[in-house]
Amino acid sequence: MRAKSVMSNAIRPKPGIMEIDLYVGGESRLEGFDKVWKLSSNENPLGPSPRAVEAYHAAGASLERYPSSDHAALRRAIADVHGVDPDRVICGDGSDEVIAWLCHAYAGPGDEVLVTEHGFSMYRISALAAGATPVEVAERNRRVDIDLLLAAANARTRLVFIANPANPTGTMLTSAELARLAAGLPPQALLVIDGAYADFVDGYDGGRALVESRENVFMTRTFSKIYGLGGLRIGWGYGPRAVIDVLNRLRGPFNLTAPSLAAAEAAVRDISWTNHCRAENARWRSWLARQLAEVGIPSDPSFANFILARFADEATADAADAFCRGRGIILRKVKGYKLPHCLRITIGDEEGSHAVARALRDFMEKEQA
Ligand SMILES: *Cc1c(COP(=O)(O)O)cnc(C)c1O
Repeated sequence: MRAKSVMSNAIRPKPGIMEIDLYVGGESRLEGFDKVWKLSSNENPLGPSPRAVEAYHAAGASLERYPSSDHAALRRAIADVHGVDPDRVICGDGSDEVIAWLCHAYAGPGDEVLVTEHGFSMYRISALAAGATPVEVAERNRRVDIDLLLAAANARTRLVFIANPANPTGTMLTSAELARLAAGLPPQALLVIDGAYADFVDGYDGGRALVESRENVFMTRTFSKIYGLGGLRIGWGYGPRAVIDVLNRLRGPFNLTAPSLAAAEAAVRDISWTNHCRAENARWRSWLARQLAEVGIPSDPSFANFILARFADEATADAADAFCRGRGIILRKVKGYKLPHCLRITIGDEEGSHAVARALRDFMEKEQA
């Protein structure tokens, strides 16, 4: 017995690992409801392109085959649609995997990774997993602040992670602000622009032009949001040739499955479905923001597929969340993002948007009664 406990005490993970707080995903079930409105994970309420579903099923006919290891067909499709150089695209098991490679390749013990006050939690998790030190930089009114980031950067800074638009705030930096940040960073620091929600912004390139004009900018994208393929886990990165070469050394040769590759290729090529999803999202996002504002729930203008609703305090936000659950609607608490008085609401379809607007209106009437 004694020997055993001595043994297990001697087996310890590397420094940093035990500091990782497990990622908390959006809940998907509510006791007592057959149909729930899951507005907690920024999923596409319209689902993926029907062509992607068809391609996925067709790929199911030959599951004995190994998938492509160079992802050439998917990278070609991404290049055709997003106007990037296919040789500088790398595909990952979700953009989470691309973020993890960046941390493992460029940051280790003694190195700093800049993240922001309300930034996406995977940056911190991946930095710690790599043994690096995440350094949190304040935001200003729920918006990333370039000057504070530049002031925090130093000779130990290796990576700077920014989601644009940001999650869970929905706010966005301009291309000029991003360019100023990239130009002001120390030479050994790589700026990573996470474009998970870039597809929801009409005319925004996700940082592509900046990647192409500089040697210190990398962009990540995902099939989990506007493309509606979160269940398949597909993301991609675009960056300087030298960085892509480094990440390819970490990438498992068969990191994406054949059905995933087939579905993603069909999804990215179905531009009319993507445009339809973007337009529907914009329509119900502005409708919902207006409805909430009318009943006294403010939110910052959002550029993504969710709204960050602000309440008077944490207790009111918790009560609103509980009230919505009573109506079969699941929202996302964002206390872990230092926004305890807020709830993040994914934009649903017409029915979902009406359901959450009605629930929150009834909640506010009850509060004020
Ligand atoms: C949802 C999301 C992602 C997507 O991650 P995947 O691993 O591609 O599903 C990346 N970054 C942010 C900020 C997100 O909100």
